[in-house]
Amino acid sequence: MNNNEMLLLKLGEVVLKGQNRRSFEDRLVTNVRRRLKKCGSFQVYVRQSTIYAEPVEGCACDMEAAYRAARQVFGVVSVARAVPCEKTVPAIVETASRYLAEAFARAKSFKVESKRADKNYPMNSIQVSQAVGGDLAERFPSVAVNVHHPDLTVYVEIREKYAYVHAPAVPGAGGLPVGMGGRAVSLLSGGLDSPVSSWMMARRGVELEMVHFVSPPYTSQQAQDKVLELGQLLTAWCGRMLVHIVPFTEIQEEIRRKCPEEYFTIIMRRFMMRLAEAVARRAGARALITGESLGQVASQTMMALAATDDVASMPVLRPLIGMDKVEIIRMAREIGTYETSILPYEDCCTVFTPRHPATRPSLEEVRRAESVLDVEGLVARAMEGESWIRVKP
Ligand code: ATP
Ligand code: MG
Repeated sequence: MNNNEMLLLKLGEVVLKGQNRRSFEDRLVTNVRRRLKKCGSFQVYVRQSTIYAEPVEGCACDMEAAYRAARQVFGVVSVARAVPCEKTVPAIVETASRYLAEAFARAKSFKVESKRADKNYPMNSIQVSQAVGGDLAERFPSVAVNVHHPDLTVYVEIREKYAYVHAPAVPGAGGLPVGMGGRAVSLLSGGLDSPVSSWMMARRGVELEMVHFVSPPYTSQQAQDKVLELGQLLTAWCGRMLVHIVPFTEIQEEIRRKCPEEYFTIIMRRFMMRLAEAVARRAGARALITGESLGQVASQTMMALAATDDVASMPVLRPLIGMDKVEIIRMAREIGTYETSILPYEDCCTVFTPRHPATRPSLEEVRRAESVLDVEGLVARAMEGESWIRVKP
């Protein structure tokens, strides 16, 4: 254990954004600060495409938790736990041999890789690696130097004030900082797909608000709780968010009463779009997100998607459109939503499902089938019943 251990987070694409870089960095620093708060008191700042997160002196920070949290911040490509020391070879060697003692005990071979951000430093990076590597080899005679395939790579970064010593960095979440890509409303069901699609757009920097449609008594409180739990799981990646709950029972009953059965699902989806858009307008959001994937079910054929988009005036983002179910499942496992998604509670999409849904609905037919409904009234009443819950990490 080293009490001045800290985290070095490397920025990803952010670095490429030229003029916008400053605002990307600011946003990312804010996001990192927020997410590390629950792990203790950290000083977070950015220098040369690296974010430094240092425990405030005297604070009992949970470094393990901070390390995990940092890996879930979008915009960060890699995370390393590091220790700062004076910028001299003896100090670096001393720090590396103490801090990486366990790794040296396990390794049969090692090398040192140095980077010099401080261009005024009297040694270049190759010289630093050679000097530090030579001294470390003397201290650990049973560990051979191997520059091609070492078991252990010791990283040394010479920066402005200090040198930093660390073991290999691990991959971060990548993508762009949440908030840089505007705000969107994501349609969150209890299934496997929509948490993954939400996650994918959040990774592109989109700040999310969720909307979930409920149809009591056909859908249960457990089904709603499951969705809130999915939202909660996503906050580990996206930060706190609102989940809007919109009652959908009257709409579904009206559709069942008045429309041809083969169009139930597609008309229901049109109402979901209208309501999601109403939520989005209030939230100042500029797009909708769904978990649809081409051909996965009858309502996700091209013609069905066209009939759905017919009522949307905002872009509908469908990041899973070209993905296979196995890929989606793999991602759900990776982001941690899989186990919750497979809990067996019914969604409003699974009540009143037609036996033979239209897979090639023409717009004309769908519009005609829907025209018997009081669309505006139904939407207005559903929105009156809208409520929201804030979920936090
Ligand atoms: P998922 O696994 O996300 O439930 P799915 O393959 O079951 O998706 P559908 O049930 O047809 O597909 O739903 C397609 C998309 O519509 C979902 O991915 C989600 O974005 C949205 N959606 C479905 N049901 C709801 C709901 N009750 N509340 C909010 N959005 C929903
Ligand atoms: Mg579903």
